[in-house]
Amino acid sequence: MKFRIPRGTADLLPGQVEKWQYVEEKARELCRRYHFSEVRTPLFEQTELFQRGVGETTDIVEKEMYTFEDRGGRKLTLRPEGTASVVRSFVENKMYAEPQPTKLYYIGPMFRYERPQAGRQRQFHQYGVEVFGTLEPSVDAEIIDLGYRFYTSVGLTDVQVELNSVGCPQCRPEHRAALVDYLTPRKEELCKDCLSRLDRNPMRILDCKNESCRRLTEEAPKMIDYLCHDCGPHFEAVQENLKLLEVPFRIDTRMVRGLDYYTQTAFEYVLKGKGGGSLGGGGRYNGLVEEVGGPDMPGVGFAVGLERVILALDEKGVELPLQQGVDCFLITLGAEAKKQGVTLLRKLRDAGLSAERDTMDRKMKGQMKAADRLKASFVAILGENELKENRIGVKNMATGHQETICLDKLVDYIREARKS
Ligand SMILES: [Zn+2]
Ligand SMILES: [Zn+2]
Repeated sequence: MKFRIPRGTADLLPGQVEKWQYVEEKARELCRRYHFSEVRTPLFEQTELFQRGVGETTDIVEKEMYTFEDRGGRKLTLRPEGTASVVRSFVENKMYAEPQPTKLYYIGPMFRYERPQAGRQRQFHQYGVEVFGTLEPSVDAEIIDLGYRFYTSVGLTDVQVELNSVGCPQCRPEHRAALVDYLTPRKEELCKDCLSRLDRNPMRILDCKNESCRRLTEEAPKMIDYLCHDCGPHFEAVQENLKLLEVPFRIDTRMVRGLDYYTQTAFEYVLKGKGGGSLGGGGRYNGLVEEVGGPDMPGVGFAVGLERVILALDEKGVELPLQQGVDCFLITLGAEAKKQGVTLLRKLRDAGLSAERDTMDRKMKGQMKAADRLKASFVAILGENELKENRIGVKNMATGHQETICLDKLVDYIREARKS
């Protein structure tokens, strides 16, 4: 029997995985600077958490969840996104009782049963942040800025922020009524999905990708014209702060994001130019904590898809500054040198250098080839003669320069050379 990887999943192999590590490292470093702490929640949760926390009428809950029953008869779902789990953890661990705000981030796999395509996997990876406890519009801007910085720091410099306000439970009903009034006489032109959204969640029709729906909603009532005395000034202040931070943004009144829980701010990161498209996004969710059983406490966050980031980096031909090979490849000739080599290798590694040796009993020529294959910066050669004199040969593989140095000096020699 031949085993195959499940559809919509990927092995991240050496050569590719270094890019992932680089991108994740940037994400963590930015979170450190913006003072976010990591939270790690389980990969599965009670199914009901996502039904409530993501929304019954979303595509995710309706068609994309990996739901199963465990041996104890519990209904569980592999997390399709990160926010619901983080909110559950925030509530369950009574983080709301601490002085606010609470600033958390996560990086990890999510699961959705979707048709796999470039940048879209069934097991995919997201980096996300959440801030709880503050209504401050400058925090919305801070988060948008953090996400924007993340893209630019990995080398995606032509990212545009699209911004909208989706209002709140006070002002949304009026817009909803106006939207339904506008769309109902024209409902023949709506796609099948939107026809069912018309009753349940008409705002979602605004960001349908179907041509006919897009034409139809071009002139439809805009949420930003219906914002209440809370949402209007909030939206203004978010924009003001984005300008202060020099984050390039554009207002897109039809962008509502696919999740039900957003209030006020909604935003998306879009890659400009060829092969563009959404890289991620987020928004404010002032009712979600309560929805998941906590107190009435606001939240705001984003989630970005890491597959799309990696894909965009590849498509744009961005060269990441990844370390290519080992610092030192140690060649030993003879049994005694081999024995000495074991501790020498350890000394190199203790000094923070990456070091490797031959473990296939290759001859000198074969070991040299191995050093080449591993893209070694230096090759250190320890033979019987060198050993007798307590010396070792060193070759700089870039310049070809070769010399013999005192055996005790090897670690310092390579460390110094790597610095310059
Ligand atoms: Zn409002
Ligand atoms: Zn549609």
